[in-house]
Amino acid sequence: MTIPPYEIYALKYAGPFIRPASMVTWFMDMDKTTQIHYYIFAIRGGKETFIVDCGCAPKLAQERNLAGYVNPAEALKRIDIDAKEVQNVVATHIHFDHISGLELFPQATIYLQEKEFNFWMKNPIAQRAPFLHTTDPVGNHYLAGLEGTSRLKLVRGDKRIRPGIELLLAPGHTPGLQAVAVHTAKGTAILGSDAAHVFSSYRTDIPSAIITDLIAWMKSYDKIRAKASSLDLIFPGHDPALLTNYPKVAEDVSRLA
Ligand SMILES: [Zn+2]
Repeated sequence: MTIPPYEIYALKYAGPFIRPASMVTWFMDMDKTTQIHYYIFAIRGGKETFIVDCGCAPKLAQERNLAGYVNPAEALKRIDIDAKEVQNVVATHIHFDHISGLELFPQATIYLQEKEFNFWMKNPIAQRAPFLHTTDPVGNHYLAGLEGTSRLKLVRGDKRIRPGIELLLAPGHTPGLQAVAVHTAKGTAILGSDAAHVFSSYRTDIPSAIITDLIAWMKSYDKIRAKASSLDLIFPGHDPALLTNYPKVAEDVSRLA
């Protein structure tokens, strides 16, 4: 059986942000700065659409004063996707910039790693300062309320959820981060989310500075690189080149594959 290819879109919803370069390339270039954007992603093919990550909720974006913020639902409208009707969301990890916009997708089934859910929802360590800083208690409360309902699918490890779409457990940045392997016309592409913040990390083996398990992170690099058809098809979570190096299909939206 031949599997029809999917297309992948990157939608910038906030940024640019100026950050120390060492934040995205661990302990490198400590005296330099770099730019990052915040994104959500869409996978389209056949009759189905999958949204990868939900972005930041409007209220939290205001509280955190996010530069260049656009409601992720508005960004999706630019490619004719109605967030209210989206049926499938893959949440890569429980950092506020990736998951606090969950309520924008009221119909969606959410795919999340069980390990990730259990850490942020149930482990008291997640309430300690370095973790608390990266998460959103309000959004997490909404997510916690979905436990045990048909809307939340807690995944254990790697799982093919459709022909041509596979979730890959890729911890390191967070305890249960997942990447998404997607069958495209160019081969198997990986939406890596924050398994690396920028493209160069997959070539240099350097992680970002936000780490829960560095050894696990290295193994996740191996897994992702082995799965992708080429290094050029591994897409990071925050690199401005996601927007500038690919065909533009709408304002701040590019087609990656
Ligand atoms: Zn992120």
